[in-house]
Amino acid sequence: MKRANQNIEGGKDTAAARYMRKRIQCPKCKCRIIDTSLSTVAEIRILSANAELRADFYVKCNNCNTELAIKKLG
Ligand SMILES: [Zn+2]
Repeated sequence: MKRANQNIEGGKDTAAARYMRKRIQCPKCKCRIIDTSLSTVAEIRILSANAELRADFYVKCNNCNTELAIKKLG
């Protein structure tokens, strides 16, 4: 069992090294929401009921359930 777990973690490390990524964090709880490529510039905001926010992605934080809007700037 221990060996199997080590193999899975080793695979993750290899993938992370191959695809360089930037972490986007939840503005509220600092939990990781999504990864983007290094060349992507994104803005993340907390989505409130009365905010008219145009965004490219809408996600809910798995940790604190906050609705977030992600806008791709470049
Ligand atoms: Zn959160």
